[in-house]
Amino acid sequence: MERVTGERTMGERTTGESAAGEQVMGERKTGEQVMGERVMEDRVMGERTTGERVIGEQVMGERMTGRPGEYLRRANEIARLARAAGNTPFGAVLVDEAGLIIMEQGNAEKDLGDATAHAEMRLASRASQAFTREKLWRCTLYTTCEPCPMCAGAIYWANIGRVVYGMSEARLLELTGGDDKNPTFSLGAAAVIQAGQKAIALIGPVPEAEAEILETHAGFWDKK
Ligand SMILES: [Zn+2]
Repeated sequence: MERVTGERTMGERTTGESAAGEQVMGERKTGEQVMGERVMEDRVMGERTTGERVIGEQVMGERMTGRPGEYLRRANEIARLARAAGNTPFGAVLVDEAGLIIMEQGNAEKDLGDATAHAEMRLASRASQAFTREKLWRCTLYTTCEPCPMCAGAIYWANIGRVVYGMSEARLLELTGGDDKNPTFSLGAAAVIQAGQKAIALIGPVPEAEAEILETHAGFWDKK
């Protein structure tokens, strides 16, 4: 079952991009290389102190074939790495209009000692620093689970134009219950996005991806 919220064609999106306060900028910021190349290491690594390595936080130039299931599978691999490093089992990847994975991010709450370091929140923040808002509007964020209200807000402010999630928040809530590690909301991402002023496409859940995502969560939450 695919739910699309406020999806518009690219042509329609272009109109209205020059809203007040939304200055059109050059195609690239410093550090962002031509399409498909890696984002310069120093820009990305500069967020962290020397020697600190955040698992599951990479910038990629890997081309995938463009099937949503494959991007979700990669996001789930990132989620597994995050869990292995002691974080909660969530992962996200950012894919540009050419189908390249240009950023990856696992949950980093433990890595960073930051309770707000959800995968999508952190990815949106990093992407906003690395890429123009025009580019991000043409990108898709793939995430293992439906973004929470904080993350949906971050995606909105980062101007990421499209989101695909594997598992619904309602399903996640069944898994986590009231577990302190992730006392899941009951406020779907669509409610947050629809309350905004941008036609962000929101697609999910993707049932074919659920079994693999569930494996990543198996035995993690107190409730199950
Ligand atoms: Zn979140």
